[in-house]
Amino acid sequence: MIRDTAAQGARLAAARALVQDILIPAEARMDAEDRMPEAARAAIRAHGLFGISIPEAHGGLGLTMEEEAELMLILGRAAPAYRAVFALNSGGAAQILLRAGTEPQKARWLPGLARGDLIACFCLSEPEAGSDAASLRTTARRDGDGWRIDGRKRWVTNAPEAGMLMVMARTGGEGARGISAFAIDPATRGVRIQPAQAKMGMRGAQVADIVFEDCRVPADALIGAEGEGLKLALAGLDKVRLHLAALCAGLMERLVDEGRRHALARQQFGKPIAEQPAVAALLADSAAEALAARCMALELARARDAGTLRPADAAAAKLFATEAAGRVADRVLQVHGGEGYMTGSAAERLYRDVRLLRILDGTSEIQRLVVARGLFSGTV
Ligand SMILES: Cc1cc2nc3c(=O)[nH]c(=O)nc-3n(C[C@H](O)[C@H](O)[C@H](O)COP(=O)(O)OP(=O)(O)OC[C@H]3O[C@@H](n4cnc5c(N)ncnc54)[C@H](O)[C@@H]3O)c2cc1C
Repeated sequence: MIRDTAAQGARLAAARALVQDILIPAEARMDAEDRMPEAARAAIRAHGLFGISIPEAHGGLGLTMEEEAELMLILGRAAPAYRAVFALNSGGAAQILLRAGTEPQKARWLPGLARGDLIACFCLSEPEAGSDAASLRTTARRDGDGWRIDGRKRWVTNAPEAGMLMVMARTGGEGARGISAFAIDPATRGVRIQPAQAKMGMRGAQVADIVFEDCRVPADALIGAEGEGLKLALAGLDKVRLHLAALCAGLMERLVDEGRRHALARQQFGKPIAEQPAVAALLADSAAEALAARCMALELARARDAGTLRPADAAAAKLFATEAAGRVADRVLQVHGGEGYMTGSAAERLYRDVRLLRILDGTSEIQRLVVARGLFSGTV
């Protein structure tokens, strides 16, 4: 496909201005209030970011993976909670609709998600089913022409402002093949959003549990075939993992900048701490890891566009970038000394935010399993 590089160039320039002029200045307020400021949300909408990879035919930007990665390298410089609010609209829920939805199902949900009028929630995890998603217990039973959903989903991002729920529920027997996907309006009777639980970071992107009790939904809430739900959810994971790798690379570059600025400004022993080799080394190691993550994300994004991406490579990129981002956040906090530990500094906020990325969308341990499976497949 021939892409309009001028349009992408303009998009990246606009994203830089958005990050610098609106998103970074609003971070402290978002953290304090645990709510995305309206001006930031409006600007994100105006830039079309809710529909980052929803096709243009459905109102989105329709970016390729490489274009999305380039954009996330820039947007990753702002607090990752912004991304948790806008990018989920193009993430799991939309990807399932695009892969398996009928035209009426796509027409019902995708334009609202692309515009950001509806906020999507992806409802997979449960109290007893985290890494082992295939063991989930929420049920969907046939009920006349439709379905009856019962169960509890845990820690659903954006649940307090949900406009659309993509729910994985058990329609058949045990294991992955018994799970189906349902697109549900959260205003449906029998859906209860429980008060949000406090988190250590990512404030602004709220989470809550969702309880389904005798929740009756029409037949066309089922997306794709019965028993295909988990397969559909997992099929979108490569994309999410590359998206997060690019986000982490951008975040690391921001952290290195924060550390560099502080190291130049802070004087001890009569000179800037940047002149202390031990401090400079903390930032040099961090810059090297940021660069490695950037290269990985872009290279693998191109591979995905070309259809040559291996799942183990997407998992490796997510594993490396999220673990490296944790190391970089720790080093940059160290460069800030006591100021980094006190609430209010960007180093402290981002240190709390970044911790979640090693847990979400498959923990680091699960990524290692996928990488190892790639290494040994066919050989053991
Ligand atoms: C802030 C936040 C937002 C979230 N948002 C969403 C959301 O929007 N939608 C959603 O569906 N879920 C969401 N989640 C849930 C998230 O996806 C899970 O937390 C994650 O999948 C891990 O599951 P768990 O927390 O139950 O940990 P567990 O699965 O209990 O794992 C605990 C530990 O054991 C390790 N472990 C487990 N199994 C293995 C194994 N086979 N081999 C090696 N190690 C293993 C894990 O790596 C981890 O270190 C969110 C979680 C948080 C904290």
